[in-house]
Amino acid sequence: MPKVTKIEDKRKLVKPLRVTHTKSKTFGFDRVKDASILVRCGCCNEKVRISHSTYDAPVGDVVTLEINGVYGTREQWIELLSGIN
Ligand SMILES: [Zn+2]
Repeated sequence: MPKVTKIEDKRKLVKPLRVTHTKSKTFGFDRVKDASILVRCGCCNEKVRISHSTYDAPVGDVVTLEINGVYGTREQWIELLSGIN
């Protein structure tokens, strides 16, 4: 059974997010299932899975995230989420 980590809101305004990390898996010769993070709501069974991987690119390591079927780099997601006030 995977370990569930809780992420608390410091002000205790909402229930903690329930987070489960899964490592990447290789199937056969070259098929890979990316590592993922399953985030469950603290108050119900709604959830979102975030798949992530790192690969070598000419510009250095690139971390990519797929959230609800939308694929982008870590930097794109950080730009998006850090702009929310
Ligand atoms: Zn909920």
